[in-house]
Amino acid sequence: MRNTKSREIALIIFALVSYTALKAQGDLDILITGAGLFIEKEFKYVDVGIKGDKIVYVGDPQEGLKAERSIDGSGYLLSPGFIDPHTHLTYDLSRKDRKANLPYLMQGVTTIVTGNDGTSPVLIGDKLDEWERNGIGTNAALFIGHGSVRKEILSLDDVQPTAGELEEMRSLVVRAMEEGAYGISTGLFYSPGSYSGTEEVIELSKIAAAYGGIYDTHLRDESSYTIGLIRSIDEVIEIAEKASIPVHISHIKALGKDVWGKSAEVIEIIEDAQKKGLHVTANQYPYPASRTNLISAVIPRWAENGGYGSLIKRFDDNSITDSLQAGIIENIRRRGGPQTLIFSSAKDTSLNGRSLKDIAEDWQMNPAQAVIRSLRQDEDIRVVSYNMTEEDLNRFMRQDWVMTGSDGTPGHPRKYGSFSRKMRKYYGEDKIVDLPFLLNSQTAVVAETLGIENRGKIQEGYFADLILFKPEEVKDHATFDEPSRLSSGMFLVMVNGKVVIKNGEFTGELAGKALRKKSEINIKKI
Ligand SMILES: [Zn+2]
Repeated sequence: MRNTKSREIALIIFALVSYTALKAQGDLDILITGAGLFIEKEFKYVDVGIKGDKIVYVGDPQEGLKAERSIDGSGYLLSPGFIDPHTHLTYDLSRKDRKANLPYLMQGVTTIVTGNDGTSPVLIGDKLDEWERNGIGTNAALFIGHGSVRKEILSLDDVQPTAGELEEMRSLVVRAMEEGAYGISTGLFYSPGSYSGTEEVIELSKIAAAYGGIYDTHLRDESSYTIGLIRSIDEVIEIAEKASIPVHISHIKALGKDVWGKSAEVIEIIEDAQKKGLHVTANQYPYPASRTNLISAVIPRWAENGGYGSLIKRFDDNSITDSLQAGIIENIRRRGGPQTLIFSSAKDTSLNGRSLKDIAEDWQMNPAQAVIRSLRQDEDIRVVSYNMTEEDLNRFMRQDWVMTGSDGTPGHPRKYGSFSRKMRKYYGEDKIVDLPFLLNSQTAVVAETLGIENRGKIQEGYFADLILFKPEEVKDHATFDEPSRLSSGMFLVMVNGKVVIKNGEFTGELAGKALRKKSEINIKKI
């Protein structure tokens, strides 16, 4: 009884404070009325007032609230705009025909982070200035890519930096952090990140840590190619500890047969680290398949040395046929077997949509021979590779430290569909996550993890990045055959107080901001 009473009083005071503050600021630009919204796990109906680029009122309907424009939100769910911590959009946002970032806006994503997997512009400030000058559709933040910094100083060589070279790399990271990077990203699976030892990564991460940034990584090995998944997780935790930095594992997964089922062990290691006080989080795209070219998926690295011409010569060299085929067979096994690799070829469309198993049987040869025959015809064969299990995917998704990250790249539906698919399938159909959990994993949790200030929540003083939709209407249309189909179901998307999607259509407004992390250096951390 007492509690209810004091809560009522608190609510009245809250309403009064909001109302008075509002009057002082004059009328609203936009008032959204009657929308449903989750505050923590509790569902409420509220009015939300917007002035300029900010939310200035959240609460019960108030008489006397005047707005230039009123939007009836009844029957819709209101959420902060989604934040994607892992994209590959540096190029898109700089192109005239793509800077509106529609694949993301149509999914309700209002802020993206890019410069992931170790690749970013080295001059962060220049890129942010350019986006600001030319306009972008979503807000955008950048990581400084370790691979790009390494390439600048050491080219693409498999070498270790001297003390002087490491110092040069450190100063590039200092500059990037001064110019507003949100942290440092690595792609330790890829060249040139793969050439670096853990110590080098720790030294550079200390700089990002000193500026309050995070460490974002594509693990050295998500499978069993080199040090293995578990030792790669151990490496991230070592970096968290030694560089005193929050770490974020990108597109967490158990890739390939040798590590299927390892999600439980990975989660255990991460939660042990969290109990010790380390900040370890992750993001995930909600698809059990990746897409890549057939050559990188199954041809041993030694055989492609020198490019496609050299590969064909090796195909013709009888003295290495056995070892070449053995290597291909091992990589097919590692990814889940010939039935999990689905072909697409622009040159020979009769292969499209068929598995390697099917093609090999048809040609009456073993799968390695079929790979060689198909690559002789077409260098650019692509494969959709079903290399993850739904069980691992679901288990990762249920963790409250795992958020949604599209890892959007051309040719995979995740760029156009990650957020919509998670809502349609993993919430709506399979019920792996509930709605408040899902929304939180795409808003507040991401903003907090990345240190993005005043976004990710519907709160007075926060930026008005808002979306209105009916969850059951949200649909992804992108598929592996047609990966560039826009999602649908967002009734309204607002970026910095501007309506950019109205009734599911783009209004043409470029309302995004280039985000710069504001931080002061903490010398003690270096
Ligand atoms: Zn990656």
